[in-house]
Amino acid sequence: MTPVLALRSVSKHYPGGVTALSDVSLQVGAGELLAIVGPSGSGKSTLLHLVGTLDLPSSGTVSIDGQDVSSLSDRWLSALRGSRLGFVFQQFHLSDGLTATENVATGLLYAGVRRKDRRALALEALERVGLGHRTDHRPWQLSGGEKQRVAIARAVVNNPALVLADEPTGALDTANGLAVLELLRELNRQGTTIALITHDRDIAAALPRRVELRDGRIVSDSGAAGGLDGRVFASRADAATVRLPRLFTGSER
Ligand code: ADP
Repeated sequence: MTPVLALRSVSKHYPGGVTALSDVSLQVGAGELLAIVGPSGSGKSTLLHLVGTLDLPSSGTVSIDGQDVSSLSDRWLSALRGSRLGFVFQQFHLSDGLTATENVATGLLYAGVRRKDRRALALEALERVGLGHRTDHRPWQLSGGEKQRVAIARAVVNNPALVLADEPTGALDTANGLAVLELLRELNRQGTTIALITHDRDIAAALPRRVELRDGRIVSDSGAAGGLDGRVFASRADAATVRLPRLFTGSER
């Protein structure tokens, strides 16, 4: 099966001679829940930017759903991002002027979902994260934990191939952080593939797979749950171009 995410010998150099990532290879299959863990400066944000298709590697390839991101134009890249990836950030990044439902519906804007269907899908996603009773609240009327639930609903509303969660508990107190972690685990049990980026080893320890970064290299990988080694092998024949699903099927905004 085509991996959801494949990095092959990825390096990233920044001007000034900084090597943020060095020869990173990693493969993530559908249904996984993994932590990418490392101390400050280990390359987590750089990796997140590459996997999130916000930046390109200096060498090596990043493939999402079998699609090499460096082969795509900006337009197709943003379409891939909108249809196949979901993002959760430490600081939620919700729009203050929008209700919870409207915030979640923005996750469907670039996926070609018709306007009349967006609200129903957003309400469904809010139910999934336990916020069916907060649909018309605005962010300032919600607790931190609730805000992160809205952000998670926005990330999953389009049924993405991969959710990238960047320190999703970092702005929350312990109880709310644990609740958000449990929600991510529950969504994963329902089939969502999630990569959680964190500096916190305790959080990483709570997840089925841990990939540890240090000085821009993977220094350990506990492997996919079930005993499969998560590392990618260059001989795999999955680099072939795979169709981009459900892209720009319409522009009804
Ligand atoms: P982390 O997210 O784990 O803290 P980063 O990916 O932000 O790590 O950084 C990895 C290394 O790359 C660090 O040495 C950092 O200083 C450097 N770095 C990150 N972004 C840039 C940039 N835009 N220009 C130059 N160096 C950078």
